[in-house]
Amino acid sequence: MCYKDHGVTAGSKILKGFESLFSATAVQRILEEDAIIIGRVNCDEFAMGSANENSAYGPVRNAADASKVPGGSSGGSAVAVQAETCLASLGTDTGGSVRQPAAFCGVIGMKPTYGRISRFGLLAYASPFDQVGILAKSVEDVSILLEIMSGYDENDSTSSDRPVESFSNDLKVEGKKKIAYFQNALEHESIDEEIRQQTSDLIEKLKAEGHEVEPVDFEYLDYIIPAYYVLTTAEASSNLSRFDGVRFGHRSDKAEDLIEIYKKSRTEGFGTEVKRRIMLGAFVLSSGYYDAYYTKAQKIRRLISEKTFQIFENYDFILMPASPTPPWNIGDKMDDPVEAYLADIFTVQANMVGIPAISLPFGKHENGLPMGIQFMANKFEEKKLLSFSQHLMQQFF
Ligand code: GLN
Repeated sequence: MCYKDHGVTAGSKILKGFESLFSATAVQRILEEDAIIIGRVNCDEFAMGSANENSAYGPVRNAADASKVPGGSSGGSAVAVQAETCLASLGTDTGGSVRQPAAFCGVIGMKPTYGRISRFGLLAYASPFDQVGILAKSVEDVSILLEIMSGYDENDSTSSDRPVESFSNDLKVEGKKKIAYFQNALEHESIDEEIRQQTSDLIEKLKAEGHEVEPVDFEYLDYIIPAYYVLTTAEASSNLSRFDGVRFGHRSDKAEDLIEIYKKSRTEGFGTEVKRRIMLGAFVLSSGYYDAYYTKAQKIRRLISEKTFQIFENYDFILMPASPTPPWNIGDKMDDPVEAYLADIFTVQANMVGIPAISLPFGKHENGLPMGIQFMANKFEEKKLLSFSQHLMQQFF
């Protein structure tokens, strides 16, 4: 996120030494409310990752156990709050990058509705999914920051002009809620037994409180990750074409002509995961493969959205763990990118559909590490989501 006259690298060598010429709207709006920005933190390179190990500046470590990953891509933002170096931090969430590290670090992480907060001044990864998110220890702090940053911005045509409610005032739950969960998510082969058990226990507690908590069918669960990685790599291959060594950022000193400037600057500047995604994205958009991959993934996205909105006709929230597993050891998933991609199975739905979602710290795994439970709500229902979160934090966590 750009902050005028400060460096911005997005965890990449290609932007080493680059200073922002303006501030992102989200940053500008908190500055106008006298926020004190104490620093910028590490993240996965261009927000691509789930463990904060894809940064050119080295990994971030989980403050609960330094041998474990903090989640990603906003791992630095999560640990900054976890380790109490600040009261709140910001990140972007394209497929879970705020909620999953929040879960791994035992803090709250929220991604609002697509369009709630302007994307102006963010380094774009996958524009139709990118959204600013907030990490903090209390629902009030999340709500205050959301309120300040939300609202229309003429610099982002996808920002919503809906009036911004007072999210932080009056965080009260009225009546009993209807909550859906996916049985196939709780029985998914990737889910850790303890996370499954504690999620089931929470479902029972919510029922005991009088809420209706019911399983619903969601037949697209296993299509979410493939569709997401086709669509986001396609977007990334386009968005990252601006880093060409010509206008800003790293320029290779070994280049002899224009084509070499492009090739060598990008070869030297981008890390392995970013290159992998640019190539994958260029492939799925290439002629002959476009319909088979990109168009197909768009159709899957539409089916996922329609089904999700159908569920919200009858339910207030969808409940799901934020991550199928607790934090893994640093280095464990570095050799198998697909395994790392699959770790996003529970978070990307909210981005594909554009709905708000929050991860709340709901206890500890038997290995002592934090876990996060996620609630999603219909578009622009942040107030309802935050009020219920506040209730859960006070009542159960
Ligand atoms: N882990 C996901 C990815 O690598 C999500 C990243 C994000 O939300 N920025 O794409």
